[in-house]
Amino acid sequence: MTLKISISGVRGIYGETLTAELVKKFGIAFARYAGGGTVLVGTDTRQSGPAVKEALFRGLRFDGKLKIVDVGYLPTPSVQVVVKALGADGGVIVTASHNPPRWNGLKFVRPDGIFLPPNEAQKLLDLYEQVSAEDLALAREGRLDVKTELEAGAIHLEKLKKIIDIERIKSAGLKVVMDTCCGAGALITPKLLDLLGVRHRQINAEPDIEKCRRALEPTPVNITELGQAVREFGADIGFAQDPDADRLAIVDEHGAAIGEDYTLCLVAEYMLGLLKQGRLAGANKICTNLSTTRIIDDVAAKYGAEVIRTKIGEVNVSLAMKKTGAVAGGEGNGGVMAPAVGFGRDSLAGIALLLQYLAESGKKVSELVSGNPRYYMHKTKLDCASEQQAAEILAKLQARYAAEKLDTQDGVKIIFADGSWLHIRQSNTEPIIRIIAEAKTEEKARALCADAVSSGG
Ligand code: MG
Repeated sequence: MTLKISISGVRGIYGETLTAELVKKFGIAFARYAGGGTVLVGTDTRQSGPAVKEALFRGLRFDGKLKIVDVGYLPTPSVQVVVKALGADGGVIVTASHNPPRWNGLKFVRPDGIFLPPNEAQKLLDLYEQVSAEDLALAREGRLDVKTELEAGAIHLEKLKKIIDIERIKSAGLKVVMDTCCGAGALITPKLLDLLGVRHRQINAEPDIEKCRRALEPTPVNITELGQAVREFGADIGFAQDPDADRLAIVDEHGAAIGEDYTLCLVAEYMLGLLKQGRLAGANKICTNLSTTRIIDDVAAKYGAEVIRTKIGEVNVSLAMKKTGAVAGGEGNGGVMAPAVGFGRDSLAGIALLLQYLAESGKKVSELVSGNPRYYMHKTKLDCASEQQAAEILAKLQARYAAEKLDTQDGVKIIFADGSWLHIRQSNTEPIIRIIAEAKTEEKARALCADAVSSGG
């Protein structure tokens, strides 16, 4: 399936499923959604970026009302932060996140810097369906009138400065290897590391995704070159981003990937500590989605903090954080949210906070990680052709585990007495049911998944 249009945005293979016409139509729809004013547009570093942007600009400018500010190569979190900071009327990020280089896509940001919640995303999809041939004819003509003078990255860096103690980090003499995967983080992340006064070495550093030597998702198997570079440079930590730099993965001082789910756990632990010391404002809560590791519960327990679990989808976590005032949050895929900076997943905030954590604690990454228990996650899936079949499978599973503690806000999550859990939900983007289990042993996690498959299938 090479075109995904969902409430999370649009992704496809540029020139095949993601056509210029489709992008223009989304531009027109977003112009109507924003209703005038100024829209910021940033891109990651795909070769189709300029062509997608051109089509998007034509759509956004179809009736000549919107002002467009092109902020160039810029991470998704930076666009989110800058839209809010400047009081813009929305933002669009041209990116397919971790999809391969030939893919591209669009993510839409509302004025408060978060993605569109499901009801508003549905409104945008309705507006997309309503785009007429006349609208498209208008979009073909007209002057583009795009402004490009804004130093948007600097605005994000200024925000980050407010949550960290630069002198403290500088004095620790830390060494860092950075793997930006030649993505949108390639320009701004070295500037952040310079600002923090750490010695750093870059790999996959050119802002051109075709030059990246690894698969783009920052999972442990894809970032072995980073591990090697950390060992060679004698670095304290290695960081890897995905192409639009919302996700952050970590390699420890031995060059071992600690797993993406651990990024949020470490940052949340540090932020709960700051809250306890009165150095950070917020509620003693962490927001994350239902499929995020239970290490986060262990971390929260140390600080008497509450964990608020949301439906899957970044915006659901963002909304929960805004509502509860939680001091920290994010997702287990390496997505860290620091509300003092913004309510989106922000790899740059993650980097700054983790370097400060290392500087203040005087501990190694491996020591910080070993301070919490480890669990094993296992994932599988069931084919599912229709909404009705999905509902039947979920009903069977809910009955099967009726005696256990259940959370049914997104599919069915079963929380067993020993702390292991099983989460079964319909995918938003594929005709499958996703099944995830986490337990103290790999054997147990696999057994939970197998039981769900045999009970639901
Ligand atoms: Mg991403």
